[in-house]
Amino acid sequence: MTADRNGGAHIIDGKAIAASVRSQVAEGVNAFKARHGTEPGLAVVLVGEDPASQVYVRNKGRQTIECGMRSLEHKLPAETTEAELLALIETLNSDPTVHGILVQLPLPSHIGEKSVIEAIVPAKDVDGFHPINVGRLAAGEEALVPCTPSGSVILLKSVHDDLSGLEAVIVGRSAIVGKPMAQLLLAENCTVTVAHSRTRDLQQVIRRADIVIAAVGRPEMIRGDWIKPGATVIDVGINRIPKDDGSGKTRLVGDVAFDEASRHAGAITPVPGGVGPMTIACLLKNTLQAAEAQVARQVARQVGR
Ligand code: NAP
Repeated sequence: MTADRNGGAHIIDGKAIAASVRSQVAEGVNAFKARHGTEPGLAVVLVGEDPASQVYVRNKGRQTIECGMRSLEHKLPAETTEAELLALIETLNSDPTVHGILVQLPLPSHIGEKSVIEAIVPAKDVDGFHPINVGRLAAGEEALVPCTPSGSVILLKSVHDDLSGLEAVIVGRSAIVGKPMAQLLLAENCTVTVAHSRTRDLQQVIRRADIVIAAVGRPEMIRGDWIKPGATVIDVGINRIPKDDGSGKTRLVGDVAFDEASRHAGAITPVPGGVGPMTIACLLKNTLQAAEAQVARQVARQVGR
């Protein structure tokens, strides 16, 4: 735990923790290369010109290479048809040098996200969105787990050696964050509550939590005095709001009112610099995991022959 504090709370340094995850992945990649004479490969597919998605894809590519893996970027025009995208996924599914496939979301509205996610072979589904991986996670089996919630658990474990028995409240029930987060915290033996837009008296629900996970998408919705003194707060939210200085510029804030919450929490993630950097770090971790599993299966097939 670093000594950084804000109004009493320990500030969880997502940048530093993500860097240490990436260096562990880089070590694993070196060992993988030494054993198998090849590197794990991650294919990232981007359809269209959404500026935020372009930045994410560029960062993913750069960090993939920095970890010693092979990065393949497929940039397709916005008019790409669903059939063309599915054909590319099929090619990547059967390419033995590609161990992970990520299709950057959101997709243009004429392409069905569900059919694209389900077309990715589960063994290469490094986003962990395929129903097979979702089901395996829920069943407590080995799975590729969505990156943002698994990064959030690593941040929690930087504060708590053992999460067992802690009262966790997750605000948000999306398939990408809230629901997999609930599964991961259950697996850590937390007592888990998942709150959402229909939850009654959210304040009271949050006030009993030792761990608060905010994944709502509403700027600074969770106020400081909702937080139980000493609780750990993981703010997944990324919201862009206008700066107060009349400059017309914007700034990023989370779903938690950071300054207020820092006066109550024992530990808290900042936005930016908290959960954000963990997402790509965990994507790289998943790619290495997927590559290891695919090679192990190949070896098992050869031995069985
Ligand atoms: P989402 O799919 O829009 O889900 C939002 C959830 O919040 C829903 O379950 C919704 O409830 C709930 N909600 C909305 N208003 C609420 C209220 N007033 N009280 C209680 N619950 C409320 O969002 P998401 O994809 O999970 O993302 C959430 C936030 O995390 C966004 O800011 C997003 O940008 C950010 N995010 C960050 C990362 C990262 O890398 N750091 C990754 C993914 C997402 P209902 O289900 O009842 O509608």
